[in-house]
Amino acid sequence: AVPLVLANTTAMGAKAGILVHDRMALEEARTLDTIVFDKTGTLTEGEHSLVAIETAEDLDRNRAVALAAAVEGDSEHMIARALRRAAEEEERDVPRASGFEASKGRGVRAEIDGTQWRVGGPNMLDGLDLEPGETLYSFAQDQGEKGHTVVYLVRNEAVLAAFAMADRPREDSREAVQRLREEGISVVMMTGDSEDVARAVAEDLGIEEWFAGVLPENKDDRIRALQEQGRKVAMVGDGINDAPALSRADVGIAIGSGTDVAVQSAGIILVRSQPFDVVRILRLSRLNRRKMV
Ligand code: ADP
Ligand code: MG
Repeated sequence: AVPLVLANTTAMGAKAGILVHDRMALEEARTLDTIVFDKTGTLTEGEHSLVAIETAEDLDRNRAVALAAAVEGDSEHMIARALRRAAEEEERDVPRASGFEASKGRGVRAEIDGTQWRVGGPNMLDGLDLEPGETLYSFAQDQGEKGHTVVYLVRNEAVLAAFAMADRPREDSREAVQRLREEGISVVMMTGDSEDVARAVAEDLGIEEWFAGVLPENKDDRIRALQEQGRKVAMVGDGINDAPALSRADVGIAIGSGTDVAVQSAGIILVRSQPFDVVRILRLSRLNRRKMV
C-alpha cells in the first residue's frame, strides 16, 4: 500500500506537471547534491536552425546544403531536420542518396552517385582521423565560441563544408541553475557537442562544471564517476542517448517532450519540459519527508 502522505505528495506533483513513476525516486530526491543536465533538448529547446555556412575547394554554399540534406535524408536527428529544412526553403535540388547509415553521437553517411559522403560533428572527424582545413577550422572556432553547433560535410576523406546551427536555451534554464546553486546543489552539464559550444552555453547559463564530447555509450560512465566520488546524482535528459545515464543516476528525470526511451528510463517525468521543475521536485521531496515524520 502507498502511505497516504506519499500519495498526497505524488498527487500534488502531478498537478504541477511532475509525474512520479517511481516513488523511491521522489524519496531520494531530498538527498541529492548534484544535478546533471543534458544540454540539447533539455537545457536548450533542441530546435536547431542553420545560421552560417562555410565551404572549401570552391564548393558552392547552396550546393553544400543540398548535398548535406541528401546525406541526412534518413535521419531523425534535429540537425538533420534543420539541414533538410534549409535545403527546402532555398528550393535546392537535393540529389538522391542511398545506403544511409547513422553512427550515434557522431553523424551519418550515405552514397550519392557511387561516392561516399558524410555529415557529422567533431566526434565523427576524430573517429575518421580527419581534420578540417584552415578556412573551415577558423569558421568552426568562431561559431563554436558563439555557442553554435558545427557539423561538417565530408566527401571520401575531404572535409568540404561546415554548417553552424543555433539552438536556444529554454526560457527557465538560467533561473533553474541559479536556484539550484543557491540551494547548495552542484549543477553539471553533459553533452555530445564540442568543448567550445559546451563552454559558451555553460557560461551563458551560469554552469561551472561540464562534460563535452561525450559519446552516447559513455554518458552513464560519467554519472558513475560522479557517484564514485560519493555524490548523490540526478540526471535530467530527453534523448535515447540519455536512457542509460537516467537509469544509472540515483534519480532519473526525463523531459516530457523527450523520446519514449528516455521517459521509460526515468523515475520522474517533467510534463511541462521545464528545467525549473527540478527545483520543485526537491521541494516536493522535502515536503514529503516532513509529513512522514
Ligand atoms: P547531445 O549529446 O548534445 O544531446 P547527440 O549525442 O545526439 O547530442 O549528438 C552529438 C553530436 O553528434 C552532435 O552535436 C553532432 O555533432 C553529431 N551528430 C549526431 N547525429 C548527427 C546527424 N544526424 N547529423 C550531423 N551530426 C550529428
Ligand atoms: Mg538531448
